[in-house]
Amino acid sequence: MLKGKFAFVTRDDELSLEIKNDLYKFLINNGLVEDVDSPNYVFVIGGDGTVLSAFRKYLDILSDVNFLSIHTGHLGFYTDYQAKDYENLFEDMIVKNPKLESYPLVVVEAYCQNGNLLSKNYALNEITLNNALGSTYIAEIFVDDEHFENFRGDGICISTPTGSTAYNKSLGGAVINPNLDVFQVTEIAALNNLVYRTLGNSIVLSKDEVLTIKPKNQNHNHRLSIDQSYYSFDSLSKVIVTLSKTKKVTFIRYNEVSFWKRVKRSFIGE
Ligand code: NAP
Ligand code: MN
Repeated sequence: MLKGKFAFVTRDDELSLEIKNDLYKFLINNGLVEDVDSPNYVFVIGGDGTVLSAFRKYLDILSDVNFLSIHTGHLGFYTDYQAKDYENLFEDMIVKNPKLESYPLVVVEAYCQNGNLLSKNYALNEITLNNALGSTYIAEIFVDDEHFENFRGDGICISTPTGSTAYNKSLGGAVINPNLDVFQVTEIAALNNLVYRTLGNSIVLSKDEVLTIKPKNQNHNHRLSIDQSYYSFDSLSKVIVTLSKTKKVTFIRYNEVSFWKRVKRSFIGE
């Protein structure tokens, strides 16, 4: 049985709150204590979107926290238990020793024209960069300081392996096993002509490679999304994205479900 401090991040619908109340009683009866500020375990009840907000809430103490989530809806990507059989979790917690699985995150640094760092943040799914007003985004893309391509299109999506099944997948990017320490760069509706020519396919970068995006119109309306959050910048000289070397996200798994089984279950069907 787990020992220590727990917290909940719950979507506020009736079913999620009901499961939370049940699980709360179970945890208290088994000697755990609630600590919303510095938990060892965060139980997430809701959808993958709820997992993203739980991740954001505990970003500063990520190395101390393990997540476990119950999906109230269809089975989500980050989740192991469905609402209809969440009671299995109680038995699993008593009789099984869980496995911990850690997944890589991307870190993004945005710089303004005088070279100052505007923002540094981490994404569990992806970051995207585009024009806040909807016109095309024009940028030079560099890998490790070497010019790679001139992009013009709706925007650029840079995803983690676990985020590869989210927005990245809708864009035609590859699904990546999260045991790989890599990140993926996917174009969003690139225009291709004689001036702006991009590869067309997604590229997968290693943990030691650095992606730099230098927008052409630096004083334009830049929109940076980080998972569910959006930020606007009037001035942006470059955005640097790498795989984080200091932070990972850790999930508690009681049942061994291979990543490809998760993919099949979510997108193809059993
Ligand atoms: P949302 O609009 O509810 O999310 C879109 C869908 O993506 C939901 O079905 C969500 O599952 C699912 N999802 C989230 N993370 C996933 C993952 N890692 N693998 C597979 N599916 C995943 O918004 P949200 O719940 O706040 O999630 C934000 C995410 O939406 C962003 O990080 C981005 O990846 C995604 N998004 C997708 C598109 C697109 O596909 N065209 C456009 C914008 C954003 P739940 O229903 O369980 O929450
Ligand atoms: Mn959602």
